[in-house]
Amino acid sequence: MAEPFLDGETVAFPEAERLAVRNPADDSLIDSVPEGGAPAVDAAVESAQRAFGAWRDTPAARRGEILAAAAHHVLQQRDELAALLTREQGKPLREAALEITRFVHTLEHYAGLAKNIRGGYVPDLDVGAYGMIVRRPLGVIAAIVPWNFPTTLLGNKLGPALICGNTLVAKPAETTPLTTLRIAALMHEAGLPKGVFNVITGSGPATGQLLATHPQVRKVAFTGSTPVGKRLAALVADDLKRMTLELGGSDPLIVCDDADLEAAASAASVGRFFNCGQACLATKRLFVFDSVADAFIAKLVAKVERLRIGPGIAERVTTGPLHTARGRALIEAQVADALASGAELLVGGRRPEGPGLDQGYFYQPTLLLEPKPTARVACEEVFGPVLPIWRVKDLDEAIARANDSPFGLGSAIWTHDLARASFAAEHLQAGYTWVNSVNRVYDELPFGGWKQSGYGKEHGSEALDFYLETKAVVMKWR
Ligand code: NAD
Repeated sequence: MAEPFLDGETVAFPEAERLAVRNPADDSLIDSVPEGGAPAVDAAVESAQRAFGAWRDTPAARRGEILAAAAHHVLQQRDELAALLTREQGKPLREAALEITRFVHTLEHYAGLAKNIRGGYVPDLDVGAYGMIVRRPLGVIAAIVPWNFPTTLLGNKLGPALICGNTLVAKPAETTPLTTLRIAALMHEAGLPKGVFNVITGSGPATGQLLATHPQVRKVAFTGSTPVGKRLAALVADDLKRMTLELGGSDPLIVCDDADLEAAASAASVGRFFNCGQACLATKRLFVFDSVADAFIAKLVAKVERLRIGPGIAERVTTGPLHTARGRALIEAQVADALASGAELLVGGRRPEGPGLDQGYFYQPTLLLEPKPTARVACEEVFGPVLPIWRVKDLDEAIARANDSPFGLGSAIWTHDLARASFAAEHLQAGYTWVNSVNRVYDELPFGGWKQSGYGKEHGSEALDFYLETKAVVMKWR
């Protein structure tokens, strides 16, 4: 039975209620973890607080070396970690291995920035006085992470938090705690000092909320749904805790009439169906110019029909199960609503049948044409393998409709026309715009949503700003 990882070791909570961890591919029980509650939260935050002083005072370059060594050790165990991630999350093994690699690369990126954490110097502030801009770590960071990319989204917080000298308590989703627990143990094996990175387990309302509101937690780094993000923001506002919110999205992809339709269709297929559509950054609404719509849709349907559904552990599978039965029920309700609104079903639209598919939470990759703009798939986030498509007459209409969303996470346009690409880059209301590409996130570039997709940035050197306090120092020497 898995247990939290606190103060450099696994700690059992025998009194706690157990939460089941199930395999989405066949609904079998894999393991269980305790509902940590107050005892685990207090122990984890105290451990992180105790470790903070020594970690903060460790030279930044040394912190970088330790983080790089820990990342390297995780990479050595990639195959074991990927198999565990596939079992608890459901994604194909190839995607799980990619996710572990991404986690490692993000830690290496921040390890590489260790010697570049900079403040400032302002000369001649006054007679015999200069100013300094000093940057200090915050203290204990709470990282609350969802189940769709349990390790990538952890790395986005762990890397910048640790390199800046903070310590961290992570609470993975209750359905995907196992890979995170294993990674914490591996990183300590490789030399991460005890207490610098702790992992507690439990549900959001019972354990996550206690962690976020714990008085010694200085910052909450949250990735998850917009409603939970809003609730947490209100709860921590009382203590004016720092907060980064990476929330839901409904990313548009615009396909113009001059686009390479074959490449755009491939991008739409990968952009929507990667991780069975359960990605924050994903092609969730598609707008195609009317004059090329039929040709484009024919190519996209052909690609979607070639996707191979099955358990993530099986070879050559491209589309695993949805992560939970509840998630699949929500997708089914959104598709039913779209069809009732008059949408045409182009492909998919039901559960697949066949050997090995009856116990898992599978759903066919689905394309819907022209649901009403008021349909749920147009207005809500669709967190599964369903893509609504609309025809548009030109770029102005495409951008207006793309921006007609409460979300502003990612966006993409497929065109060879420089003027169209530039116009879209300036006018799409989102934290990321891809031109002739989709959904590839780079450690070098800041990532974070506009509007109800959140605030604050992860990735890039910009993320460091969200793990440091800035202080002005006046030095009067005469
Ligand atoms: P969720 O908000 O339900 O849960 C996310 C995490 O928050 C989990 O660890 C959960 O246990 C915890 N949580 C839930 N309720 C809580 C509470 N009251 N207090 C404290 N913690 C609580 O999200 P989900 O549905 O599991 O994840 C999918 C959502 O995450 C989607 O909306 C997706 O777009 C979003 N997401 C955003 C990004 C991004 O970077 N913007 C990345 C991935 C996922």
